[in-house]
Amino acid sequence: MATKPPLLLLEHIERSYRNGDAHIKALNDVSLTIEQGEFVAIMGQSGSGKSTLMNILGCLDSPTYGRYCINGHDVSQLDTNQLAALRLKTFGFVFQRYQLLPALSAHENVALPALYANTAKSARRERAFALLQQLGLEGREQHKPSELSGGQQQRVSIARALINGAEVILADEPTGALDSQSSEQVLALLSELNQQGVTVILITHDAHVAAQAKRQIHIQDGTILSDNGAPTETEATPTAAKETLRPLPSIALSEAVTISFRALFANWFRTLLTLLGVVIGVAAVVAMMAIGEGGKQQVIDRIESMGTNLLMLRPGGANMRNSGDIATLTLDDVEALNELPELVGIAPEREARSTIRYLNRDYRSKIMATTPNYLHIRDWEIAQGVMFRERDNADKAPVIVIGATIAESLFPEQNAIGQYVMMKNSLYQVIGVLTAQGASAGGMNNDEVVLVPLQTGLTRVFAGRYLGGLTIKVKSGEDLEQVEQTIRQLLIERHGKEDFGIFNTASLIEAVSETQNTMTMLLGSIAAISLLVGGIGVMNIMLVSVTERRREIGLRLATGAKPKDILRQFNIEALVVCCSGGVIGVLLGVGAALFIARFDIAIALAWQPAALAFASAFLVGLIFGHAPARKASRLNPIDALAEE
Ligand code: ADP
Ligand code: MG
Repeated sequence: MATKPPLLLLEHIERSYRNGDAHIKALNDVSLTIEQGEFVAIMGQSGSGKSTLMNILGCLDSPTYGRYCINGHDVSQLDTNQLAALRLKTFGFVFQRYQLLPALSAHENVALPALYANTAKSARRERAFALLQQLGLEGREQHKPSELSGGQQQRVSIARALINGAEVILADEPTGALDSQSSEQVLALLSELNQQGVTVILITHDAHVAAQAKRQIHIQDGTILSDNGAPTETEATPTAAKETLRPLPSIALSEAVTISFRALFANWFRTLLTLLGVVIGVAAVVAMMAIGEGGKQQVIDRIESMGTNLLMLRPGGANMRNSGDIATLTLDDVEALNELPELVGIAPEREARSTIRYLNRDYRSKIMATTPNYLHIRDWEIAQGVMFRERDNADKAPVIVIGATIAESLFPEQNAIGQYVMMKNSLYQVIGVLTAQGASAGGMNNDEVVLVPLQTGLTRVFAGRYLGGLTIKVKSGEDLEQVEQTIRQLLIERHGKEDFGIFNTASLIEAVSETQNTMTMLLGSIAAISLLVGGIGVMNIMLVSVTERRREIGLRLATGAKPKDILRQFNIEALVVCCSGGVIGVLLGVGAALFIARFDIAIALAWQPAALAFASAFLVGLIFGHAPARKASRLNPIDALAEE
């Protein structure tokens, strides 16, 4: 008949440490059986191997040789999650130096292992309060560890060991740091727990303390010297997989996020600085893209405001700028092109910059010599007075039509119509003012232009009788490409070669978009680099944080957190930082863009760059948070807790 296996069974356990070339055997051939409900004191001098034994018993450490079975289950066969489950549910640790988390209140410290047992928040709190009351700490639930005496802190840590209903309490010199009265209280507490059926294993080097236990084990130099109550050994028969071995699911995301926020707030100034890197990166991406996009949109708007059925003809090769010095386009060409049925009209033009003067007021502007149909072709309108007519052109009449801004500047208090202005040493009469187009037409509006009849311009203003270009309006419904082709053919026939360039607004927009996109990409990549730098900052700080929080991590692991939980915790912390940085950065970037827009700089806000920047921040958190999180999850709880 199969007998029930002992609770804890150690067979020929060895634990050696490599120290350079030498091997130190902290434990040497330790065989030990502990039954459920025992109260065992383990005694020995400092360095005899007591803590090493305790760590192996509590599944914080594994033996280098020998077999350790818990309830008949060979511990070496269990995976990390099952070991975590054992630490969580079967064992409760009480440490010499309490190991409470200083940022948490007493009841939160007590409730910590219950968090990893997925106990609901309210239930955790209730149980922690009940345990604290039971251990005589009523009214101290909200105190931080620093506000409690050593004895009180140790009772808090006992409550923590009990919260998941541990079968075995492992106490490593629990009274080592306490005065005699507190020691008595703690020992009485452990005895009482033992009477309630909890197995208590207590490490001490105090014979008086050890005397309280039912069984004393002396160890020296890693071997058992004496054991006054060893139960008769029974053959281990593994029972079916037990509930206690079943790993628990990870803690809820909301809990993990809450823990992250608390950890980040605890170090708020550092968090702020870390955040800043991400915030600046994201804000830069959003603002730069808004400015780049705005610039592009502005240029496109300007071009589009000229109309989509316009063709521009410029002298010189297709890639040459119109300098006005290339005399290949003539009025004869205009006449020939006028024969084409697809066209609404052609406006020949020639332009220059000049100063126009009225009394003592000067205005420097663009002078455009053209024919009366120019208004119709460009869809401009007259606000006051009239446009010059074909007669004026033929007569080379000294008349001009001016833009609204010029009219305002030169004639702030009087009507411009009928006034005479001076331009290139001649007098011209203002006969019309154009309707203001304002900012809606972009920088290509007509508010700062002076129109003069073509013939007047060619004889009086400009030297030489050649044209600077033609603006051609194509009938709506015509195929622009087709018409462009026809015009090209005709002019090549007339000139014998292609000594002109012909553009339509669509191809202009395409060319401009391309250069502007390059600019935007450039701005964007500078911003992306700053985001990357922010990410490196996050990683750097997180690595520091992991080192600083070694004890916290060790404690979480010792009380039942899976390495996976720790990995997740730190990943979430990095994500919380980066996502917060992302949100703040997007808001700041939009704010900066709107602020910049107040200085008459075009911006275009779109959700895509914001989403892209936020997603990048998220990715930065995911990627740069991984190394620190991995480091944290691989911490050895024993080393972490051993640090003072
Ligand atoms: P005790 O708790 O009885 O004072 P320990 O179990 O802590 O003793 O240590 C037993 C022996 O193992 C000591 O000689 C100690 O120096 C050695 N030891 C403990 N931990 C380590 C370690 N991480 N690396 C090397 N040697 C260790
Ligand atoms: Mg020790």
